[in-house]
Amino acid sequence: MKIICIGQNYTEHIKELNSNTVAEPIVFLKPDSSVLPKNQPFIIPPFSKEIHHEVEILVKIKKVGKYISPKFAHTYYDEIGLGIDFTARDIQRKCKEKGLPWEKAKGFDGSAFIGGFVDKSKFRDVQNISFSLQKNKIEVQSGNTSNMLWKIDDLIAYCSQFFTLKIGDIIFTGTPSGVGAVAENDELTGFLEDREMFKLTVK
Ligand code: ZN
Repeated sequence: MKIICIGQNYTEHIKELNSNTVAEPIVFLKPDSSVLPKNQPFIIPPFSKEIHHEVEILVKIKKVGKYISPKFAHTYYDEIGLGIDFTARDIQRKCKEKGLPWEKAKGFDGSAFIGGFVDKSKFRDVQNISFSLQKNKIEVQSGNTSNMLWKIDDLIAYCSQFFTLKIGDIIFTGTPSGVGAVAENDELTGFLEDREMFKLTVK
């Protein structure tokens, strides 16, 4: 199982990172060892002083595909989820400065939090789903999939040019604005529309 992540897929988040809009999706991977085991807290790793939460819509791939056309991409997934792409922002910044790969900042153990899935038939339009993250009961991030620069079907088609998509692979589709640092004992709660999808403690 692999995790494919999309960077900078919401305009407001691009602005807060002081980045420029890019012509093609930014794609990176997290290894399977990055998945936070179920029912465990997120533990701040010793090598970073600035771990950010990035709440994201997840897509779970249900059949094998390569060179998928955008037209058929919707047949490759049934479930929409919510998770957090934990990012060691201090390390990512250093890597970016030197033009080095980001894996240490994005793929460390526990950095992929998968909060749960809902059948996509529960939504009238997958490109109009609101989602949000609360930190200690205060909303810190909120987004709507209508604001994605690249839509879910486009992302599936794009990624499948490079990587064969396999059953159980997960796509993290990018974070809206409002990313910020987490601290010990923070409680993170994620919502897909009005549905509470997870509660996660930071240790
Ligand atoms: Zn992200």
